[in-house]
Amino acid sequence: MALSGVTCKVSSCKYWKSGEHCDASAIEVSVEGGGTNARQSEQTNCHTFAPKSS
Ligand code: SF4
Repeated sequence: MALSGVTCKVSSCKYWKSGEHCDASAIEVSVEGGGTNARQSEQTNCHTFAPKSS
């Protein structure tokens, strides 16, 4: 079941489903480089990402 309210464009992730949906049960978002203080959206990322095995 897709995560409600999450739109994702990372089609190379194994949880990604067509229509820009995420099929993970939950996601974790972290700050690029560690810590808790992002200043721009580019400094955040989805830590749940996993590459497709194919
Ligand atoms: S786990 Fe993260 S990168 Fe993968 S589809 Fe879900 S939101 Fe996108």
